[in-house]
Amino acid sequence: MSINSSGWKPEMSQGGAPTAETFTGNRALMLEEPLLFEIGSIGKTGVDFAEVPEAASRLGGLTREAPIGLPGLSEPETVRHYTRLSRQNYAIDLGLFPLGSCTMKHNPRLNERMARLPGFADVHPLQPQETVQGAYAVINLVGEWLCKLTGMPAVAMSPKAGAHGELCGLLAIRAALEARGDAREVILVPESAHGTNPATAAFCGYRVEDIPATKDGRVNLEALKARLGPDVAGVMITNPNTCGLFERDMIAIGEAVHAAGGLVYCDGANFNAIVGRVRPGDLGIDAMHINLHKTFSTPHGGGGPGAGPVVFSDALAPFAPLPFVEKREDGSFHLVEEETAGEHHADTFGRMVAFHGQMGMFTRAAAYMLSHGADGLRQVSEDAVLNANYVLRQLEDVLDAPFAASGPCMHEALFSDEGFPEGFTTLDVAKGLIDEGFHPMTMYFPLVVHGAMLIEPTETEGKAALDQFIGALRHVAERAKAGDAALKAAPVHAPRRRLDETAAARKPVLTYRELVTAAAAE
Ligand SMILES: *Cc1c(COP(=O)(O)O)cnc(C)c1O
Repeated sequence: MSINSSGWKPEMSQGGAPTAETFTGNRALMLEEPLLFEIGSIGKTGVDFAEVPEAASRLGGLTREAPIGLPGLSEPETVRHYTRLSRQNYAIDLGLFPLGSCTMKHNPRLNERMARLPGFADVHPLQPQETVQGAYAVINLVGEWLCKLTGMPAVAMSPKAGAHGELCGLLAIRAALEARGDAREVILVPESAHGTNPATAAFCGYRVEDIPATKDGRVNLEALKARLGPDVAGVMITNPNTCGLFERDMIAIGEAVHAAGGLVYCDGANFNAIVGRVRPGDLGIDAMHINLHKTFSTPHGGGGPGAGPVVFSDALAPFAPLPFVEKREDGSFHLVEEETAGEHHADTFGRMVAFHGQMGMFTRAAAYMLSHGADGLRQVSEDAVLNANYVLRQLEDVLDAPFAASGPCMHEALFSDEGFPEGFTTLDVAKGLIDEGFHPMTMYFPLVVHGAMLIEPTETEGKAALDQFIGALRHVAERAKAGDAALKAAPVHAPRRRLDETAAARKPVLTYRELVTAAAAE
């Protein structure tokens, strides 16, 4: 690593030929961008502040003595800094985003327009209830649609993401079991579940036990039945699962778990694949979260925003969290903030969040639901599944598709690294895709498949975009299978090459001073 006046030099490729270096470090119209600390200088400012009037300090001995040392930039320098960085990002508005499990679909601008209406964007959670009746109406509308689409009688709108919804569902399961004096210790999680499932169960204090998958990538029903017993609080099943397959035994699983006194949590983050076609309530599910930011659009990633409403069966509805919006007989809405002993919502497990959820997300989801309509939502899942199957069948001759014989996939196509020559891995294919202009697919997940590549094209891609992506992935896969050594150097066209991701995670360099010291030591 070296720091020079133009910032970081692009690194040499490992093993391959050095890349064509430029004087500036810029490549074509992609500009290198140093850190703020390298381009800014202390004492410079982009704002014309008035002189600070002399005033007696009221900070006692706490006044800072040394300057804070933040770099200053002019306004154009600031604008360019962030614009240059933003150009090094990949985004759904730039191209197909094949990340499996994440449902990176186009976000209709109509939703943004609605969320920015001042009546929604500017409400405050502490406003008097009579002044936010419209916002409550939207929350109630989304809740009613979710109940209808899932065939479940109750919904909690407040959880703020999928994993938060899982926590909500498990807390309700725990409250229901405790209410009948039957606290249990174990949650069963199949191998094909999403990673957040065992994490949530462990976070709730449950012991997590694995249920193996069958060869065709689904829950092993016999193994599950054999493990059920009086210590099992419930199961968490991701359906469709992370192998991109529908769990066909869901009804039998639910019956067996209920007969053994447990409850059924379903991870519904993949609802995108079945919305309008399957009602989870018909499958014996007691609680399920829905990722509004996946199935019902909204830009997401990088940690937010999200919304993970949870639908409940009759068995769990009394234990759902506060607060919730209630429609009164006169048509007005009321936010129920507290339980009344012995009467209203007396069995609630409590409150998970300070307020009642993500208003911007609810508005976007409402706009998405109303603009698609029931028929449009059904079309969403049909097209999402069709697109994934197109990807699967177009590539199965060049990439191993471990469950291709299990029938059509749902909204995700899954491949493995089977057949790659010694020294070539899924990582090489992912890095090669970057050079082709695509964000890589989800890698090494699910764990049940070696070198997994999970691709979710979503319903918003047309055939031309799919064909271009398929062509790119085919080309990279062929290079890997042919043992093309140059692929080991990919990405060669990106602003950065292969990074030491382990060191970045284990020994993160979080301050500029550390960075300079580390660079000097090298
Ligand atoms: C995305 C996802 C989650 C977690 O949702 P977050 O909103 O990221 O917390 C859980 N399960 C599955 C199957 C998912 O795809």
